[in-house]
Amino acid sequence: MIVGAKSFFEYERPELAEIFHPAFRATQIYKSVYQRWFDEFELMTDLPKPLRASLAEDWNVKLPALHRRFDSSDGTRRYLVRLADSELAETVFIPEEHRSTICISSQIGCALACTFCLTGQLGLTRHLTPGEIVTQVLVAQRDNLSWDMRDSFNIVLMGMGEPLHNYDNVMKALRILHDDEGLNVSMSRITLSTAGLLPPLERLANEPAIPNLAISLTGATNEKRNQLMPVNRKYPIEQLLDAVRRFPLKHRQRVTFEYVLLRDVTDSPQDALHLVKLLKGIRAKINLIPLNEAEELGYKRPSDGAIESFRQILIDHNISAFVRKNRGNDISAACGQLKKKWADEPEKVVHPVGAASRLDCR
Ligand code: SAH
Repeated sequence: MIVGAKSFFEYERPELAEIFHPAFRATQIYKSVYQRWFDEFELMTDLPKPLRASLAEDWNVKLPALHRRFDSSDGTRRYLVRLADSELAETVFIPEEHRSTICISSQIGCALACTFCLTGQLGLTRHLTPGEIVTQVLVAQRDNLSWDMRDSFNIVLMGMGEPLHNYDNVMKALRILHDDEGLNVSMSRITLSTAGLLPPLERLANEPAIPNLAISLTGATNEKRNQLMPVNRKYPIEQLLDAVRRFPLKHRQRVTFEYVLLRDVTDSPQDALHLVKLLKGIRAKINLIPLNEAEELGYKRPSDGAIESFRQILIDHNISAFVRKNRGNDISAACGQLKKKWADEPEKVVHPVGAASRLDCR
């Protein structure tokens, strides 16, 4: 079978409408790829046969191959998706009863160097392209969700990388995922998590379609946050929160703050009170993330008692606060654990996910 060089997943539909003649072919093919999971032009019998053949020569609609899949005892799955230059993008699928979560990466590595995050120790290798971001979602969707449940997922940009550092590619990927002739994921089902890069955050606030916003806070004073998240030295807390206050929210929508609990560093009652003060006047919800420990990190996770007391202080001050459940820890899939460990993880053949097994259900 011929597979062309151009990756279909890199393109928005309006771009394709400029390329294909007549333009409505763009919509036809978008539907076949994103809604019917076709990964070969030959399957698209609503296109004339000669066109199918010529498209196959130029374009590739196959999902990338999987290098490895790790299955956690709690059902979470971590994927290493092989990219054209042999880099691997990490994606995590977290099953939930009603709506599962697909956690995707926006970069290989990360430039921000947060001291409690394993990805932060890697430095940045490169940005991911729009297509490399989009196909992570498709890989996790098609490998985990039955046809009936195929739209029951949320997307979180909480894998490797700082999404606002790769702004243009991330936003293009979101537009592709959001397209109503494609996967049609509503922006209310997408959450972008940032360590707080201000210029792109202001840009995001002015986009026509805006995902949910999550801010990784973790330090409640500049002194502490400077130590933990070097990005704070450039964009201190007050400026970050001012930008959040200006961020447009829909009716009943809230900004999520992620706060990593580090024993004796961010888990004192005073820290909780600082947090209460900081978030005054912001429609916020706090996700407390007890540290996922790793040998390379010099921090410890607080005791369960300390975690609960911290949460209680927030609740007592009328702030909704949740403790994030620890999922996929046994396969290094939990928050902050994504790290290139694949040098010692040789390729294991995983059958590529795709349309073949599903032809009967459309
Ligand atoms: N760069 C973005 C996206 C990464 S999301 C951001 O900073 O928001 C990853 C989330 O996991 C962030 O909220 C981060 O604070 C959190 N995290 C990082 N390392 C962690 C660790 N070791 N344990 C628990 N959470 C961690």
